[in-house]
Amino acid sequence: MSEARRFGAYEVSVLVDGVYQAPIEHLSHATSQAAQDAAVAAWGKPTVDMDVNLFVLKGPDGISLVDAGTGPFWGPQLGLGREALAAAGIQPADVVRVLLTHLHGDHALGLFGETGRYFPNADVHAPKPDLDFFGNAALKATVPAYRSGGFDIAARLLATYGDRVKPVEEGPVLRGIEAIAMPGHTPGHFGYLIGEGDGRLLLWGDLVHVPSLQLADPDVCFIYDADPAAGAASRRSIFTRASREHWVASGGHVSGFMQVERAGDVWRFSPA
Ligand SMILES: [Zn+2]
Repeated sequence: MSEARRFGAYEVSVLVDGVYQAPIEHLSHATSQAAQDAAVAAWGKPTVDMDVNLFVLKGPDGISLVDAGTGPFWGPQLGLGREALAAAGIQPADVVRVLLTHLHGDHALGLFGETGRYFPNADVHAPKPDLDFFGNAALKATVPAYRSGGFDIAARLLATYGDRVKPVEEGPVLRGIEAIAMPGHTPGHFGYLIGEGDGRLLLWGDLVHVPSLQLADPDVCFIYDADPAAGAASRRSIFTRASREHWVASGGHVSGFMQVERAGDVWRFSPA
């Protein structure tokens, strides 16, 4: 677990759940095959390795998580967030809520035990537009199989957590936590802005998978992005706000706490 940083009423730590290795073929581009080829050449390695993160927020009303990692369901290289929680002295029963950025396995599967809830006392706050989309089983046939996991997660989430699933709308969620829509990766993909005033923290889920490429070229995307053009537009919009408002940024696949800076027509990261 990273050293905790304070944002408003919350002490926030990053937990690394593991490293996910995506085949280079999964790297894509929202504009053209030529641009995709250039991004692949610029990366220059056969896999795109990325941290998978979850976040612990210690606040006045207890312990919250943003995202939940993979649990034991993606093999031994992942799911290490559970050990990290235990090492920090946090038991599953201590977690009062989990805020999900979207309904993908590396963010939501950690909610589940072998049977039932892994976090027996937690409410699960999930973006309403993702619940609406992935909760509609009739839509599953309209997306390719490799992007259909969200439907299984929505069904399992509702079956396991029942009325503890709380649909989140854009705007204030709790005092000091605001949901910001950033669609593209999924239809209802949200980030959570933590704290008050200057220097807030934006936990942006899967807005970015490969910072070293996507800050400089927001059109770089992944095949798991449901709507690549919308995802690129969300990146431009959020990078602009984050740099202007001096937000600290982190996310599902960002290492540590970063600052987004405008650099001419593009953006870059520096450690926050
Ligand atoms: Zn995702």
